[in-house]
Amino acid sequence: MASAVELAKRGVQVTVVERDEVGRGCSYGNAGWLTPSQAFPLANPAMLLKSFKWMLDPESPLYIQPRLDPAFLRWLLEFLLASRKAKFDRGATALLELCRVSTDLWEDVAKRSTVDFGFERHGLLAVYEKPDSLDAAKGMIETLAAAGIPAQRWTADDVREKEPAIIGKTVGGYFYPDDAHCEPFQAVKALKAEAESLGVTFLEHTEVFDISNDGGPRRLKTTRGEMKAEHLVVATGPWSEALGKMLGFRLPVIGAKGYSLVLPPATPHPKRSIYLIERKVAVNPHRDGLRIAGTLELVRNDFSINTRRVNVIVRGAKAMLNIGEAPVAREIWRGLRPCTPDGMPAIGRARGRGDVWLATGHQMTGLKTATGTGLLLAQLMTGETPRFDPVPFRADRY
Ligand SMILES: Cc1cc2nc3c(=O)[nH]c(=O)nc-3n(C[C@H](O)[C@H](O)[C@H](O)COP(=O)(O)OP(=O)(O)OC[C@H]3O[C@@H](n4cnc5c(N)ncnc54)[C@H](O)[C@@H]3O)c2cc1C
Repeated sequence: MASAVELAKRGVQVTVVERDEVGRGCSYGNAGWLTPSQAFPLANPAMLLKSFKWMLDPESPLYIQPRLDPAFLRWLLEFLLASRKAKFDRGATALLELCRVSTDLWEDVAKRSTVDFGFERHGLLAVYEKPDSLDAAKGMIETLAAAGIPAQRWTADDVREKEPAIIGKTVGGYFYPDDAHCEPFQAVKALKAEAESLGVTFLEHTEVFDISNDGGPRRLKTTRGEMKAEHLVVATGPWSEALGKMLGFRLPVIGAKGYSLVLPPATPHPKRSIYLIERKVAVNPHRDGLRIAGTLELVRNDFSINTRRVNVIVRGAKAMLNIGEAPVAREIWRGLRPCTPDGMPAIGRARGRGDVWLATGHQMTGLKTATGTGLLLAQLMTGETPRFDPVPFRADRY
């Protein structure tokens, strides 16, 4: 949607083809964080050892569904090979910059939009329960500082005093004042409203199921008839692999499932986003409720709900926040994060004939980097000097 807005601003005639309703994909129920402090490539060497341990535990924050599927195994192998420090550091620098600028761009959207999407820049507090994980964060804080993302070290007393919503045991935390949060579905709606006002055409409840590859202008076969496109932007999240297949190239984007729950407000209600570090639970204080989110399961396109894993998120939140003994969720949601093997988004021209562009593979950062992604893609497509170094996001690496 952000790409549609930025292209339309540059006078490009855009049609959005959406199988469902715009915003009902992974962006619908995500944690709503717009947090540069938490924008790292997925293939992270610091997490690799821990990930192997977690893989064996069905209640761990990361789970890999065992399967003898060659494409999945190839993805996993590439993921392991990408988890090298030098590669991670290069990716992190680019992603942090994309996210830092995107947060400012989201703030601009909030100022000019008629849709209130609950944008608030109250920062994020990362709460630690173990001294060694607090110490281990030092390296990351240096990386963030180099990227212009400030952090404040809070003692356990600071945490309890400044964020009374934390009732569990803590050894302290880091506060990132520049981070923001919002209501994710409303945020997509705000972009959609802007796209509509710029003349973008919408074909919702329309699925693309085949695309011509014969050298002429692309013809898209959809469930509501055929259409032609001079250029095509693939922004189909975890389903991008299927679109790649239609276009005749391998696009290794697989789904990593996560869950979120919307609960009644906590007492006291958090003043800002909170990250329960060891439990990997994300907390977003909406004005009228509390969203908690977590877990990452590499599952491809399996949409089933695993109650055991949902309960882990609730248990984690209960240990640290006063959400009652048996909180009743207003909504339980699951979504599939689109993940490339190197954990970096693919933004730009795809390999091949030159009329296909990608804006996909944003893993855990798709909302927080959306506005920058749209800007970068539109600049590349219209030949403008890009605001960001496009190399780390090159789409033709696949
Ligand atoms: C639990 C959880 C918490 C998260 N928290 C955050 C967070 O706080 N901040 C953040 O930045 N990110 C977060 N994420 C990640 C974020 O949600 C994703 O990165 C982002 O939503 C991906 O957006 P997308 O537009 O690429 O994909 P999607 O939002 O999934 O959109 C893809 C769209 O393509 C459509 N489509 C697919 N195939 C076709 C077809 N053949 N024809 C027509 N249409 C098609 C789908 O219907 C869908 O609407 C979270 C994810 C999860 C699961």
